[in-house]
Amino acid sequence: MLYLTNCSENDIPKLEQAKVWLYIKIFNEDFNLSFHLPYSDTCDDCDHLMIQEKNCGSVEERGEITKQKAIHLDEANLRHSIKREDK
Ligand SMILES: [Zn+2]
Repeated sequence: MLYLTNCSENDIPKLEQAKVWLYIKIFNEDFNLSFHLPYSDTCDDCDHLMIQEKNCGSVEERGEITKQKAIHLDEANLRHSIKREDK
């Protein structure tokens, strides 16, 4: 946020500011992603999907991987809660 304030003060063109916004958006999304992980331990599938998501070439591809990851996390959550009920 400090970076953005500096941009405004230095009168950087709108396009440059848009890039900064995109950077902040991506950063926040990545941060939220790790922040909202239901529990800290990840499995090999999680790691694999996370690497794929980071390295993917297109928005469509990224969306697909994000969806797969969400489904995988749902399943992991389900297993986790079932395990808890057994105790
Ligand atoms: Zn996993």
